[in-house]
Amino acid sequence: MGFITFPILQTARKSGLAVNDSGSQLHINCPFCGDTKRRLYLYSNTEQYHCFHCGAHGNAVSLYARRTGLSYASAYHVLVADEMLHFPLPAVQKPPEREPAGIEQRDAVYRALLDLLPLSAEHHQNLSGRGLSDQAIVANSYRSLQDGKELRDKIAAQLSSRYDLNGVPGFYFRDNAWRLCSYSGLLIPIRAMTGQIQGIQIRRENTKRMKYVWLSSAGKPYGTAARSWIHVTGNCAQNTAVITEGPLKGDVASALSGNALFICVPGVAAIKYLPDTLKSLHLTSVQEAFDMDKLRNPQVVAARKRLRQVVTDCGLPCKTLIWSENYNGIDDYLAAKRIS
Ligand SMILES: [Zn+2]
Repeated sequence: MGFITFPILQTARKSGLAVNDSGSQLHINCPFCGDTKRRLYLYSNTEQYHCFHCGAHGNAVSLYARRTGLSYASAYHVLVADEMLHFPLPAVQKPPEREPAGIEQRDAVYRALLDLLPLSAEHHQNLSGRGLSDQAIVANSYRSLQDGKELRDKIAAQLSSRYDLNGVPGFYFRDNAWRLCSYSGLLIPIRAMTGQIQGIQIRRENTKRMKYVWLSSAGKPYGTAARSWIHVTGNCAQNTAVITEGPLKGDVASALSGNALFICVPGVAAIKYLPDTLKSLHLTSVQEAFDMDKLRNPQVVAARKRLRQVVTDCGLPCKTLIWSENYNGIDDYLAAKRIS
């Protein structure tokens, strides 16, 4: 005979907790430690609870037992006797993917994360070499992250004492502590048109494949996957924007063309958030400027066609920028043009 899984939200209500809402990761004040920052999470995908302040966690039975002072077995029998609670629930195959926290929370955590890190002399030199001024390098808040678990644990500990890290891609919870899961390399903030940091991309060193990756904790306990957020850089008041691939390329190209507005998709096919971005800006036309070598790749050609369709569907004329094939990226072309 298998044990019944009881629904966590209803059980929390039955135990006298004020649970007004529903949702896959509702959070409330923790009754066990007196927390007032709503750090007790009720997970209806796994029917578990977890307080990120005192560490109290478990299933609905242990929540009910702890609230009532009953033994686990007695609490189980009380819940079984409640006909409203023991309707059969589908077995959880794979918990649904966790939604990222809102942009305010991600922005606050990522800003604090960047504040804890330096920019290495090597990275600074590399950014200058691409054509970014010292002023632009500072304004864009690039940072360097070295290897090492100790450093990541220290960063996560510092941030978790000040911020709720639930739902922030890059962070996860294991062995009673928040952890940071990140490749080392150059950290590049991905910004919304408001300047808020949506997410972080990392340019890895000494690798040919997956040179740019998201800061993400997908697949980790209490972790969150990054989404294909779009980076907006330059003067958001402009009526024309250039769409390109890659945030750093966009930052450089914008800086080299007098702070022109660039919309940087994470990949030619990663355009889920493009319509929202286009509609939030004050645009009357768009230009697309993908790398020249990609003009011959059939998959990229198809993806660009879809992207152009998305732009057109938003009511915007879309022009393709072409430049000399001696320069692959638009940033390379602009840098060369500036020097000559
Ligand atoms: Zn607690």
